[in-house]
Amino acid sequence: MRIVEHIEEMRSWSEAERCTGKRVVLVPTMGFLHEGHLSLVREGRKRGDRLVVSIFVNPAQFAPHEDFAAYPRDFERDCKLLEEEGVDMLFHPAAQEMYPKGFQTYVDVEKLAPLLCGGFRLGHFRGVATVVAKLLSIVRPHVAIFGEKDYQQLQIIRRLVRDLDFAVEVVGHPTVRDRDGLALSSRNIYLDRAERSAALSLYRSLKKAQALVQGGERNGDRIVRAVQEDIGKEALARMEYVRLCDPSSLEEMTVVEGEAVLALAVWVGKARLIDNVLLKA
Ligand code: AMP
Repeated sequence: MRIVEHIEEMRSWSEAERCTGKRVVLVPTMGFLHEGHLSLVREGRKRGDRLVVSIFVNPAQFAPHEDFAAYPRDFERDCKLLEEEGVDMLFHPAAQEMYPKGFQTYVDVEKLAPLLCGGFRLGHFRGVATVVAKLLSIVRPHVAIFGEKDYQQLQIIRRLVRDLDFAVEVVGHPTVRDRDGLALSSRNIYLDRAERSAALSLYRSLKKAQALVQGGERNGDRIVRAVQEDIGKEALARMEYVRLCDPSSLEEMTVVEGEAVLALAVWVGKARLIDNVLLKA
């Protein structure tokens, strides 16, 4: 596996691969890899000839009070895992490489970004959209893979790719969970035993909501309230939002018709956890 830190080197490698007819796949990450990331990498392997993974903890998507400095990092371990997966290229730029002095151009996905998580993490999706646009422009992949765990992020990326005419196929990959249902996340490392057990309420309540819908419930308020009541029983969990929304516009839905996404964000200790499920009427 080759590891490069500079944009020009990344760009010319990718360009050379494209010129020989190779299909280039990109899996962007912030590192501290787990099975969720690795399942994206395996999906990527299947979808192209050359696999690029990026590891970049993007300062632009963290507010000043958030966990940018504390965000877990283990570059050596990540390299080993990616090597074992047969990754061809690891792009690992420094912050100054991506945001040199004078940087001032950002991507705003106007309607989607302020919803859900964006209402609580101001500027977060502007940072995400900007870095993803940069990565797509540097690597120029044929395919880019993102997890459905970050559902809003995936929809924002789909929108920005359409709006800015990036010639890339965006692939969403299902959420990978621990055996007990907890969605894998680099931030799970922040949880102690009691907190981890409280964190199980996220998926448990989402499954309950799915069961309600399967049983015929269509009323959004009642579904959301059932989830809130369930998570509310956990003393260690502090809910930020629980919302039923349209799967592509992310606008709030009051009735489950066709498909809807139930998304939530919950603080457990130092960890802000997100999860979601698709509900089908
Ligand atoms: P991150 O390193 O957290 O920025 O995540 C990098 C990519 O991995 C994003 O596309 C995430 O949606 C995806 N991802 C993170 N956790 C999971 C998971 N448990 N299952 C599937 N994809 C995930």
